[in-house]
Amino acid sequence: MHNSILRDNLKIIEDNIDTTCKEHDILPEMVTLIAVSKTQPVAFINEVYNAGIRDFGENKVQELIDKFPQMPDDIRWHLIGHLQTNKVKYIIDKVFLIHSVDSIKLAQEISKEATKRNISVSILIQVNVSHEETKYGISELLAIDLIKEVSTFPGIHIRGLMTIAPYTENPEENRLYFRKLKQLSVDIISKSIDNVSMDCLSMGMSGDYKVAIEEGSTYVRVGTSIFGERIYVTA
Ligand SMILES: *Cc1c(COP(=O)(O)O)cnc(C)c1O
Repeated sequence: MHNSILRDNLKIIEDNIDTTCKEHDILPEMVTLIAVSKTQPVAFINEVYNAGIRDFGENKVQELIDKFPQMPDDIRWHLIGHLQTNKVKYIIDKVFLIHSVDSIKLAQEISKEATKRNISVSILIQVNVSHEETKYGISELLAIDLIKEVSTFPGIHIRGLMTIAPYTENPEENRLYFRKLKQLSVDIISKSIDNVSMDCLSMGMSGDYKVAIEEGSTYVRVGTSIFGERIYVTA
């Protein structure tokens, strides 16, 4: 029963993404849907995997490392939540992309652990373009300096930017934030910083992914619209 609901939800989102791309002359392969599986059991994740999704997003280190060995190894795991420096070592060799780097200290730790393992880790810089106080992310005024510095760290490749827009009933209200993030990426490209590419823009969630795609998103992070409302179990 539930399984077919997940498939139906997924189909709707994939169709919406396709339609949005077609209407705005965007190549559909430019946009990747990340299924945000936080709080969801492995059985549900498997169902979405079997429907063809390979990109999954988790926001907690512990949850990611619990699920990781239980799932097929061709999954690309995205860490989309705040990352504490002391937890970098647990996920560094498991994640495809870390979306939430917003400090020199965190980047230093990622660089240190990556160098130890002789790997290169792809990261996005999380930018707080809406200036919501509760959100992590660096302000756009400081982003370029942070990127210049982090770009020199070994074992790290900056691939783009990420933002979390405010929760809103009206996705149009977030259009300016998505536009700001895109503009910032264009500004950064114009600086031609070595070892920095800006091919990834992670923006848009269940409520506003269509608007985000119109404004240049390459990664939409969708949880509720695929899996339904999250049930948080308090420990
Ligand atoms: C939970 C979460 C999402 C998904 O949000 P939905 O509204 O459920 O689609 C996206 N991005 C981040 C960073 C999240 O923590």
